[in-house]
Amino acid sequence: MAENGKSFLIDTTKCFACRSCQVACKQWNELAAEDPVPTNRGTYENPPDLSHTQWLLIHFKETERDDGSIAWNFVRNSCRHCIDAPCKQQAEHKDSIVIDEQTGAVLFQEGTKNESFERIRQACPWNIPRQGPDGRLYKCVMCVDRVHNGELPACAKACPSGAIQFGDRQEMLDAAQARLVAIRPDFPDAAVLDRNDVRLLILLGDRESMHKMQVEAATA
Ligand code: SF4
Repeated sequence: MAENGKSFLIDTTKCFACRSCQVACKQWNELAAEDPVPTNRGTYENPPDLSHTQWLLIHFKETERDDGSIAWNFVRNSCRHCIDAPCKQQAEHKDSIVIDEQTGAVLFQEGTKNESFERIRQACPWNIPRQGPDGRLYKCVMCVDRVHNGELPACAKACPSGAIQFGDRQEMLDAAQARLVAIRPDFPDAAVLDRNDVRLLILLGDRESMHKMQVEAATA
């Protein structure tokens, strides 16, 4: 594999939850609309969960600030493309989950239909894998078909605010560090979570409340 592969940088301080990324993911990967069609649950977050055809979800949360004003927080939930992927470590069949040579993406193969869904799902710290009606397991594929041809993943291409960046891993780590320094005056608690362990580098403006959101998204 290329020494460092690729990574995403998700800058939550730039996300305004337009969900262009969700739509682009569906469109490029030819994923069906949710069935049944999601209903209004009193939140703009939709659909309510990841599925075998929903590989990326923007999680919404309103929180009340100390001064009584309302803060909107948005964070992306999708596969983190872990460096030493626990899902792969727990797979019983060697070739059912593979690491893409060029990017380091963690890719579920046809053979995941022979794995125990519960075993793989429980291995994932982020509760990401979902099982399709064909028995196969599904999740974000980093749009490796696009990346191998010099294109950005569909979500990164569609994002209008620069909240999703994608590139060589070291370049993304450097960009994350530079952004942390730049936003510290406004976001003194800003942090990049799990930067040594994942290829989805999530930069949070407020580590405590947004990390809690990530945990909530994983346990929903
Ligand atoms: Fe596997 Fe979950 Fe890590 Fe994705 S986030 S690579 S599904 S363990």
